[in-house]
Amino acid sequence: MPYPELHPPVRTLLGPGPSDTHPRVLQALAKGTVGHLDPYYLEVMNGLQEMLRGLFRTKNPMTMAISGTGSAGMEATVVNLIEPGDSMVVCVNGVFGGRMADVAERAGAKVIKVERPWGEVFTPADLAAALAQKPKVVGIVMAETSTGAWQPIEEISRAAHEAGALLLVDAVTALGGVPVEVDAWQIDAIYSGTQKCLSCPPGLSPVSFSPRAMEVVLGRKTKVQSWYLDVSMLANYWGQNRVYHHTGPINMTYALYEALRLVHEEGLENSWARHRANHLALRAGLAALGIRYATDESCTLPQLNAVLVPEGVDDAAVRSALLNRFGIEIGAGLGAYKGKVWRIGLMGYGSRPANVLLFLAALEQLLAEQGFKFTPGSSIAAANRKYSQKS
Ligand SMILES: *Cc1c(COP(=O)(O)O)cnc(C)c1O
Repeated sequence: MPYPELHPPVRTLLGPGPSDTHPRVLQALAKGTVGHLDPYYLEVMNGLQEMLRGLFRTKNPMTMAISGTGSAGMEATVVNLIEPGDSMVVCVNGVFGGRMADVAERAGAKVIKVERPWGEVFTPADLAAALAQKPKVVGIVMAETSTGAWQPIEEISRAAHEAGALLLVDAVTALGGVPVEVDAWQIDAIYSGTQKCLSCPPGLSPVSFSPRAMEVVLGRKTKVQSWYLDVSMLANYWGQNRVYHHTGPINMTYALYEALRLVHEEGLENSWARHRANHLALRAGLAALGIRYATDESCTLPQLNAVLVPEGVDDAAVRSALLNRFGIEIGAGLGAYKGKVWRIGLMGYGSRPANVLLFLAALEQLLAEQGFKFTPGSSIAAANRKYSQKS
């Protein structure tokens, strides 16, 4: 055979995603494929939707998984709410806000961009001038994976609704790692992805639309630009009728189902607490080495640690040695952060003490080779001290 069998190298994925898949999720992928209208599959879909509502903390009937990665969820939420000529405010403080603005423009929206420097977040005051233009939709990224910034949503939601707009939230990296409260915060449309904090491979995008958002969708004057992502049609498959629209990605649905069972078993609050505990240990370890964060402490995400590459250290050499010698993948800086920042993800199954300690030990070895000055072992000791503090 000219084509070798698949033997992917064993990696520890500590970048901005994908993160490590839980072994139980991998096993779920390998189970027998059934038809997309098989009664068994319909039961799996029901369970999946129920667990997704729990994860999003919502009662929204229109809660489901879009076939496609997180960006498909972004497209789905935008193209359903936007008709050509509608105005949409998009908050841009990193790569993904920029992508949302692009998607909105392609959908025919009149986009009003509001910007903040990378690593910072928005306050309602930042949006005041844009909201005065009475947009139909306000789009914002809750966990900006390019910068590690954690955007508070509740106050932005209030301001958007006072201006009569719908609120659309990117929760791709947020969901499972930090609290996301769709009903309490009155989020109208939200999307996520499977490969960040849900311990699942990429391939599905959990989404939820509020009844208010569905009213807007069903009252459109024009057809949704995308046939594939039209929620009024998807609603016939994911709703009571279960009418064929497109073939569901059966085995990916098994995978997400199992991933959601894992969150359910652990408890959502416990999952948030675990992400935080491992973040605090990593943070203590990095501080012991004198490595600083690119984001302000007040808005640092626990699951995505964007830190400044220390002066005199070769960014690319460290990242490639981590990969080649230790099997550890971390992320490079993008855009404004290119060459300046490492992005260390502790997401989903990847957020474990074993990974924090492995990473710090490997990093110490590589920093020593680069001639960087620090007290050997200090990062591990600091992380372990954090773990032994009971909070
Ligand atoms: C990863 C990510 C996306 C895009 O998801 P894909 O699965 O790569 O399509 C969108 N928004 C944020 C905040 C992300 O981190």
